[in-house]
Amino acid sequence: MTFTDDRIAQGLMLPVMETFYSLQGEGYHTGKAAFFVRIGGCDNGCWWCDIKESWDAELHPAIHIDEVVFQAEKHPARSVVITGGEPLLYNLNPLCALLHQKGFEIFLETSGSEPPRGSFDWICLSPKKQSPPLDALYPVANELKVIIFEQSDIAWAEDNAYKVNPGCKLFMQAEWSAREVVTPAIVDYILQHPWWMLSLQSHKYIHIP
Ligand code: SF4
Repeated sequence: MTFTDDRIAQGLMLPVMETFYSLQGEGYHTGKAAFFVRIGGCDNGCWWCDIKESWDAELHPAIHIDEVVFQAEKHPARSVVITGGEPLLYNLNPLCALLHQKGFEIFLETSGSEPPRGSFDWICLSPKKQSPPLDALYPVANELKVIIFEQSDIAWAEDNAYKVNPGCKLFMQAEWSAREVVTPAIVDYILQHPWWMLSLQSHKYIHIP
């Protein structure tokens, strides 16, 4: 599999690292059952990334989108979370069209470092300092979810919040390894700036994928 494979360029095949059925653990849709599609490939290089195995797309054999949707249909929920890696490295138009045809709603998790190619029902934009979102992502984001590792990241969160549309939901989420230290600071901040909300990685607390 290479990025020059025509079927990958067309979005008919994707280097899927894993699929699983679980509950959304983070952000606005926390607690909602969904089929997760984790697509390999990311060059953002977040040092705290908890899914570094996703970075190298070459490690993940490309599969046809028909197979992805076939697997999704085995489960009762009609919600699909497309995540990564950075899923916007790929043309997701064909996958989204097929999922919508089958009655799924589609939630995208992205850093926003690539242009949106797909039709999504919900876009969760999680900006990364070292590879900030493209301007095109801010107006279309339904949710801004900023990872806070240290107090200074709160200012970065506000920088991003200025750019999203007025209806966008605003979340701060502690980086997992720093959660004991930084969560109290996030809580204090939200108490004073109540248009923000706290996102917890609830799946990690209850040990589900
Ligand atoms: Fe990991 Fe996401 Fe950062 Fe990519 S953007 S390095 S997948 S946390």
